[in-house]
Amino acid sequence: MIDTFSNFIGGCWKASLSGAAFDNENPAHRRRVLGRFQSSAADDLDDAVDAAASAFAAWRRRPVAERQQLVGEFLRVLDLSRHELARIVTLENGKTIRESYAEVDSALVEGSHHLHQISAFYSHTGPAASGGMTTWVQYEPVGVVGVISPWNFPMNVMCRKTLPALLTGNTVVFKPASFTPWSGVFMAGLFERAGFPRGVFNCLTGAGSSLGDGLVRHPGIRAVSFTGSTAVGRTIQVKAAEHLTRTQLELGGKNALIVMDDADQHAALDAAVTAGFSNAGQWCTSTSRLLLHRPIAASFVAALVDRCERMVVGDGLDEATDMGPVAGPKQFDAVRAAIRLAQAEGARLLAGAVPLPDSPEGYFIRPTVLGDVTPRMTAFHEEIFGPVLSICEFGSLNEAIELANDSMYGLSSAIFTTSLSTARSYIDNIDAGLAHVNVHTGYKEPWMPFGGVKQSGCGVPENSETGLEFFVDRKAVYLRG
Ligand code: NAP
Ligand code: MG
Repeated sequence: MIDTFSNFIGGCWKASLSGAAFDNENPAHRRRVLGRFQSSAADDLDDAVDAAASAFAAWRRRPVAERQQLVGEFLRVLDLSRHELARIVTLENGKTIRESYAEVDSALVEGSHHLHQISAFYSHTGPAASGGMTTWVQYEPVGVVGVISPWNFPMNVMCRKTLPALLTGNTVVFKPASFTPWSGVFMAGLFERAGFPRGVFNCLTGAGSSLGDGLVRHPGIRAVSFTGSTAVGRTIQVKAAEHLTRTQLELGGKNALIVMDDADQHAALDAAVTAGFSNAGQWCTSTSRLLLHRPIAASFVAALVDRCERMVVGDGLDEATDMGPVAGPKQFDAVRAAIRLAQAEGARLLAGAVPLPDSPEGYFIRPTVLGDVTPRMTAFHEEIFGPVLSICEFGSLNEAIELANDSMYGLSSAIFTTSLSTARSYIDNIDAGLAHVNVHTGYKEPWMPFGGVKQSGCGVPENSETGLEFFVDRKAVYLRG
């Protein structure tokens, strides 16, 4: 018996109008179906946008303190659901249960940051009086906001967008990724439980190519916050232009970790393993290029290969598992094809299965290390989005920074060094939204901006103050009298 899950529209649980549905598979156990989800189409979307638009009129006028109280209640029920939700994330995404707890906890920390930040945010606007005139900037919510999230952090990314949108008085239509619809629908249940008015938060499942596309094009949607691939982000930017819909695009990366010969090699190795293989490398801020200073390269690679070979790959629910499967068949095929292409282009497979066997049970790929990667190779430039580290060696800091910047992406980066001047030079010259010194590429704090440069992102970053700013219009008020 397979459970069927509904959309959450206007405070009601509804099947798609066509009745069409799709299955959600557990990536650790192929063909084990976790549930059936609605394949929503344009008419369902209209229903959700109408519900959100109707709810907006009253929601935008609710005192900030009341919106805060509801978001606070949402965070309380999220915390109460921590175990259930972490299990759902592991079941449908594949990441280890520890990684799923970390994801839920990150959403709680970020949510609490925005919850407390909102009062200060509204106090920045003035007023200022001079010569009989009073001026101030009045923040207005944008309206109905579309949120589209990826499958790699299925609940944290949606919270990072949705909670600031709601706190600033917008209403939301949310579309989760099709590999991970369950956590999205579960979150809708938490908004219901927290007591949000009908239509303030709506969730529909369905394909990105139809439902996601329709959401971006919908004239009733005033802003879209999207996290996903650069390829889809580009198409969203073009479609959003039609109605001048505001966009916030958090996209892919090809993040470099530079290890200098003066660095603490153990700490650098831990960083490479953590940021290379957590969430099976399916992390926008994963380390995917490992740039090694020539004097330490051979010993570093030997230690890295040893660590990879000792990692336990398996079902994320098993406490002994270090790394789970990749999220689904599309990823499985794409990552294996990328490894084969790298070998064909001359990279050396230093760790990982050779050849990669078809795993009968789940979409498992062992931690993979590619040596002798050069900037001419695809593995140097393209985001593989799996447990694969591409290694290049360098002779000087300038060469390392040149290699790191040789990418269309600019999301995260890191350097390990004990030299202050090396660190300083790296910070000043790296083209990336996040620059870490002696900290791995995936590390973040909620009060810091989270977003990339170049083709890793567009629009103001998430978290920090800009995470709220994206969701408001600024009205310049001049009052005489
Ligand atoms: P994706 O294929 O771009 O999908 C992301 C979301 O967009 C999914 O909900 C997807 O729906 C939807 N979508 C697909 N086509 C669409 C279209 N034409 N119009 C509107 N929406 C559409 O990316 P993914 O494979 O899920 O996620 C991996 C990517 O996300 C990686 O590139 C990674 O680097 C990036 N990422 C970035 C960040 C960041 O903060 N910078 C964080 C996490 C991930 P379906 O699932 O139904 O196709
Ligand atoms: Mg799934």
